[in-house]
Parts: sequence; C-alpha cells; structure tokens
Amino acid sequence: MLGLLQIDGYSLVQEPVGADFVVVNTCGFIEAARTESFAAIHEMLELKRQGKIRGVVVCGCLAERQKEQLLLDCPEIDQVVGVFGREEITKVADRLVGNLDEQREVFRPAPVRALEDRHRLRITPKHFAYLKVSEGCDRLCTFCAIPKMRGKHATKPMEEVIREAEELAADGVRELIVVAQDTTYYGLDLYGEPRLAPLLKQLNDVKGFDWIRLMYFYPMYIDDHLLQTIADADKIVPYIDMPLQHINDTMLRRMSRRVTRSSTEDTIARMRKFIPDLAIRTTFITGFPGETDEQFEELCGFVAEQKFERVGVFTYSREEGTPAVKLPDALPEEVAAERRDRLMEVQQEVVFDRNDALVGTTMDVILDQQVPGQATAWIGRTKHDAPDVDCVVFVSGEGLAAGQIVKTEIVATHEYDLIGAAVDTPR
Ligand code: SF4
Repeated sequence: MLGLLQIDGYSLVQEPVGADFVVVNTCGFIEAARTESFAAIHEMLELKRQGKIRGVVVCGCLAERQKEQLLLDCPEIDQVVGVFGREEITKVADRLVGNLDEQREVFRPAPVRALEDRHRLRITPKHFAYLKVSEGCDRLCTFCAIPKMRGKHATKPMEEVIREAEELAADGVRELIVVAQDTTYYGLDLYGEPRLAPLLKQLNDVKGFDWIRLMYFYPMYIDDHLLQTIADADKIVPYIDMPLQHINDTMLRRMSRRVTRSSTEDTIARMRKFIPDLAIRTTFITGFPGETDEQFEELCGFVAEQKFERVGVFTYSREEGTPAVKLPDALPEEVAAERRDRLMEVQQEVVFDRNDALVGTTMDVILDQQVPGQATAWIGRTKHDAPDVDCVVFVSGEGLAAGQIVKTEIVATHEYDLIGAAVDTPR
C-alpha cells in the first residue's frame, strides 16, 4: 500500500500530526491483537477530533473480520479497506483528499493467486525484509481465524517471488525473511505439489543476500529433499520457525493439526540430522479447551526434553467463528496464564544454560540499531534470532553501522540476551 501510494504521488511522513490521512493497518488474529489495533484506531480518531489529521483509513485483518461492524461502532472512521482491497488504496486516498465520501468501504474476494508485493516502500530497516511467498491457508486448525480472514491458500508464482527478491536485494536487503501462513504448503495449489525446495534453491541464487531465514513451517511436507536443500544452500541460515501448538495427541486431534507426537518427533529429529547447528523456534498454546493437567505436564516434559533454541507461548484465545468455540471443557483464563508462565520457566532454563555455554565463543551478528544515546553500542542478532521475536546481542565496537555483519566475541549474558564485543572488521 505504501508503494502504491508513493507511485501515485503521496508521501509518507513520520508523524501523524499534520498528515492528510493516516492508514491504520490492523491485525485481527486474536483478542490481544484486536485490542492493540483498536487502541491505535482510537488514538488516530482522537487526533482527527482535535483537527490534527483530516482522515483515518482502517485496513487489514481486523477490517476484514469486522466488516459490517466497524463503521457502525466507529462512525468517525473515513474509509475501511479489507485485506484484498489493498490494491485500491490510492482510489481510497483520492476519495479522502477530494472529500468524496460516497463510498466508504472496499472489500474484495480473495484472489486465486497471491497478490504481488512489488514496488515496496519498506518501513523495516533497510538491511532486512519479509518476503511473502503465498497468501491464505488451507488448514483447519480449530482455534484459528486466519483462513476466515485471509482465504484459501494461494501460491505466489515462483518467478514473481524471485522478481520481488531481486528487487529487495537491489534495495539493500542483506537478510531475507521468507514468510507465509504455511510455508511448507507453498506450490500445492498452483503446481499440484509442494515446491518450497526448488523455490529456496532459486532464492539462494539471488545475488545480494547474506542470510535467508525461513519462518512458519507447518510440521508436514518437510521431507528429506527439502531439508537437504536447506542444508546445501549457503545463504539459508540454520534457523526454522515451526509452530507446534501442542504435543499431546488428544490435544493435537482437538486442534485438528493432523500430526501426532511421534510424527512431530520424527520431523524434528530429521531436521536436526540434516541441518547442522540448527535453531528451531516454535510456539505453543496453553489452556486449549479440555487440556488436562497431565496433558500440560506432557507438554512441559516435551519442551524440557527437546531443548528448542527458541520458544514462544500463548494462552488460548477464544475466537468467534472458529470450531474450537464449540468444544466443551473450556478452561479459565487464569489457568491458561499460569500454564503459559510455567512453560516459559521450563524453557528459560534451557535458554539460560545455552547462553552460558556461548560465553567465550565468536559469532556473526547482524547489527539492527544503535543503543539509543550510545555511540559505540549496538543491538544485533545472530543467525539463530529473527527480528522482534527472538533474543538480541548487545555489541560494543568502534565505527560500526546498521546492517553490518560483525564477528562478535560473546563476553557475558543478560537474561535471554547476550553481550559481546566486535572482534573483526565488519562486512
Ligand atoms: S496452519 Fe496456521 S494459519 Fe493455517 S489454520 Fe493452522 S494456525 Fe491458522
């Protein structure tokens, strides 16, 4: 949307005050995300009331999910744009600045092929970018509202993905982060078979990237050929994000995940066998309807045993319109929250032990940003850490800059994070 607006002559400003209009891009995935989205919408509407901005456009998943309701609840919103109406953002902007309010909503059906993401105006740091390889999801996980909002799985054609990657590389991206709702499903709808492995091979050949990071693997379709491709690709970092949600077979069945504990253990073992030094990031849900103490204990035991490098834990969020709301034996939120904290404690021990063992070693760190107010201190990440969700490394050194990859000697730990000193010329 930013790219389209820029091509159409609009310019992006850093602060909302004084802007002709503000676009609030929302998330509607779970209750916590919706609360955050509504807070941003109300903040912008308050600025509008004070006459500091002229218009407010709300788009994204919350807009899509609350189609009928949003303008009724918040009539001061000027325009609402659904997930697949984003191509029309310039028309919406023109209507707004031209004071033509004859139409205030744009909702379009999900396309068969994923929309293009070319000509982007990126607001992530210059040196890393997310590249979406498909849209939507064909899975039926009973807790999840995403397929409702983002439609069926739609693969972005391979040549289109490569074109976008080349554009990003030419724009200075060093770390490419491959995303989708379900990355391992890539190709199935368009080519009749999963095609992630050939896609990754081609992405690895795009000149300009140093690191390629893979996120959101569903624990299916991870065959040995895919793992070998990842292991052979010199730019793909040894990091895979694979949300597992639970490990108890009854829970997995109630979640409709179509995998079992034993198939998951087999997948993890093969991943580790093929890819040396692999960091697996995963996420779990606590307090799903019917989760017993024993099933939760099984999950804790599994996390302690597997020693995942990175784990995130979410409490179950009851989402209207999903099959899970009809399941019996809902648990109180406090129980879900206690279990989340317990599981995080189990994981904390694993991470702290691993961090201690890293002191004295040297690692490549990509520098994301300066520590505010400190000329020689930087915040960076190792190959084992994705932006925003994983750990960071605080790096000290002279003459460093954002986007550089620097050899860093780890000298201490700070809870989940590491502290180090640059020991070589950055590249
Ligand atoms: S695979 Fe992910 S996006 Fe798809 S339904 Fe399951 S949780 Fe939702």
